[in-house]
Amino acid sequence: MNTNTSRTTDGRGRLYDSVVDTIGNTPCIRINRIAPKHVRLYVKAEFFNPAGSVKDRLAISIIEEAERRGELAPGQTVVEATSGNTGIGLAMVCAARGYPLVVTMADSFSVERRRLMRLLGAKVILTPRAAKGMGMYLKAKELAEANGWFLARQFETADNATVHENTTARELLADFRGERLDYWVTGYGTGGTMTGVARVLRRERPETRIVLCEPSIAQLVGSGTAQERGPDRSPAVGHPAFTPHPVQGWTPDFIPHVLQESIDKHYYDELLAIAGPDAIAWSRRLAAEEGIFAGISGGATLAAAIQVAERAAEGSVICCMLPDTGERYLSTPLFEGIATEMTPDEEALSRSTPGYQMPAA
Ligand code: PMP
Repeated sequence: MNTNTSRTTDGRGRLYDSVVDTIGNTPCIRINRIAPKHVRLYVKAEFFNPAGSVKDRLAISIIEEAERRGELAPGQTVVEATSGNTGIGLAMVCAARGYPLVVTMADSFSVERRRLMRLLGAKVILTPRAAKGMGMYLKAKELAEANGWFLARQFETADNATVHENTTARELLADFRGERLDYWVTGYGTGGTMTGVARVLRRERPETRIVLCEPSIAQLVGSGTAQERGPDRSPAVGHPAFTPHPVQGWTPDFIPHVLQESIDKHYYDELLAIAGPDAIAWSRRLAAEEGIFAGISGGATLAAAIQVAERAAEGSVICCMLPDTGERYLSTPLFEGIATEMTPDEEALSRSTPGYQMPAA
C-alpha cells in the first residue's frame, strides 16, 4: 500500500451473483454547506441503487414475490404504468431475469426515461398527457387483460410498502443506531417509501417525527378530500385537488392505495407543501454546493427538510430521502439555463491565456 495518501478502500468483501443483489443499502450522507448550522441533516441517496432510483427496491420485490407465489410464469410479459423510475427499475430486473417488459407512460415525462427503458430492453407505450396518471394506468390494465400479461400494480400491491419495511427502514434503523433521529422527511409517488418506512419507525423509533410532503399545486392529502376507489382499490376517478406539477415521480392525480394506510393510521406528524421552483432550486444547490446530484423530487424533499431544519431545536438530526439521480432530468427545467456552449466568463477565461483557444464563433 502506498502510504503517501490517506484514502484507501477495501472492496465489499463479497462477490455478487446478479445486479439485483446490489439493490439497497444506500448511504445516508451529511449535508455540510447548505444546511442550517444548528442541526445535522442527512440525505438517503437512492441514486446509489443500480438503476439509479429508489424504485429498484420495488421492482425486485414485485418480481420476486410474484415468482414466489407462482403468479409470474417463466418468460411471461410484465406490464406496468410508470412515471419512469419504476419502469427503469423493472427494465433492469426483467433484463436480468429474462422477462419481457412493456411500460405505459404519459408523454409528459422526460424523454431520457423512455430511452433508458428501451436501452434496457423494454417496450414503452406512450399515453396522452391530458389523460394524466389515470390514462397510463388504464392503458396498462387494458393491455394486461388483452394479452394475459402480469400487471405489476405498484400503486396497490402489498409488495411495495413491504420492501421498504424490510430494506429502506432497516437500513435507517441500522445507520442511526445509537444516534438521534428527530425527523424523517419524504414525499410520495405510490406511497411505498412512506408507508413501509413509517410502519417500522412508528414501532422502533417512536420519537422520530415523520414529515410527508406533496407539491403545493397538487395537495391531494392536504385537501382532506377522500379518494374514490374501485373494487380492486385502484382509483375510480382523478382527485379534484390535482394539477400537473413539475416534481416527476411525486403525487399522481389520485391518492394511491399504498399511501392510504399512512393517512388512515396517522403515520405522519406533519404535512408540508413544496413549490416546484423551490424543488428545482434546492436540487441545483445540492449539486453545486454539496456535490450531490439528485432529481427534482430529491430537491423537493430537501426543500422540506430545510424548512424543518430551520425551526428544529439545536442539535436536531434530520434525514430526508433523495429518490433518484439528476441525470434523469437533462431535458427538464432542472437543466434550464445550463449552457452547452461556453458562457461569456468561460470565453474570457479561455482568452486569458494564449494556448488552445477555440476559433471565434
Ligand atoms: N421521486 C421519484 C423521482 C420517483 O420516481 C418516486 C416513485 N414514483 C418517488 C419520488 C416516490 O416514491 P414512492 O413511490 O415510494 O412513494
